[in-house]
Amino acid sequence: MSDASLLNSSTRKSMHWRLIVLLLVLIVSVQGIIYLFILGPEPLFSKETGIITDVDTIPVGIRKLLKAYPDYLIGATSNSLIWKDSTVMPYDDGIQNKDYEALLLTPDLEDQMSKKYVKGRDFPDPTENVTDTTKIRYTPFFEKMYGSTHAEVHGKLALVRWLPKTQKLKMYVTTVNDIHKKIQAISDELDNHPEWLKYVRNPGGAFNWRSIRGTDRKSAHSFGIAVDINIRYADYWLWDKQMGRPHKYKNRYPIEIIELFEKYGFIWGGKWYYYDTMHFEYRPEMLIDEASL
Ligand SMILES: [Zn+2]
Repeated sequence: MSDASLLNSSTRKSMHWRLIVLLLVLIVSVQGIIYLFILGPEPLFSKETGIITDVDTIPVGIRKLLKAYPDYLIGATSNSLIWKDSTVMPYDDGIQNKDYEALLLTPDLEDQMSKKYVKGRDFPDPTENVTDTTKIRYTPFFEKMYGSTHAEVHGKLALVRWLPKTQKLKMYVTTVNDIHKKIQAISDELDNHPEWLKYVRNPGGAFNWRSIRGTDRKSAHSFGIAVDINIRYADYWLWDKQMGRPHKYKNRYPIEIIELFEKYGFIWGGKWYYYDTMHFEYRPEMLIDEASL
């Protein structure tokens, strides 16, 4: 065989391989286009299909939400939550370094999940860092879960007998996520502690379709997920402000009451910069340890 024909043969082989590679690239690209524009991103995790693809690529905040709300959330991609009715809810809007105002007014789910809630009695002074607050709520998430109108939320409420042994009051809370059963369980436990009665009798309120004072943001009470215990022992930043008192954190409720609510998935407004010590709301996602995921 001459040198020329040797050269021709290797050139032909190389061309052959180039064609195969080109064809493979084309196939992958077409699949990519179909995947991105027609099928949408494939869930990395889905309870329905049992797909679990590289769970580590799902943000911790999404994994906490999936664990906290198993009846409503069934899957995730690397940047969205998938609801039982197939709604895909975006997680991170990509906007970084929001100030406190922006975190409260235009948060995304990622902002909601970005702050740490310290469970139990050893928590830092809430007034040290204004942006470090679990008060941030991405409203569409709560509207979708509990209802976006008064009628929708109202249709899911149930009466709970508050302190049935000692006071026999009734209050409305939502049945979503069995919150009514959780409040009832808390109430029943409180009823076995007469020494705590003065702090929890005459509760300040439960369901109440209203905005947060001074804003047009819906309060957690609007969704029937919050309870205010006896106002008499409450410390509330706004009252301090209105009375010309300093913005200084204090708490007059026994920590055991706070721990009891936390046990059932409620966070306490007494751990916020803008302290509201009578206030508890159902936010189990904030109480999940990363290590347990
Ligand atoms: Zn409240």
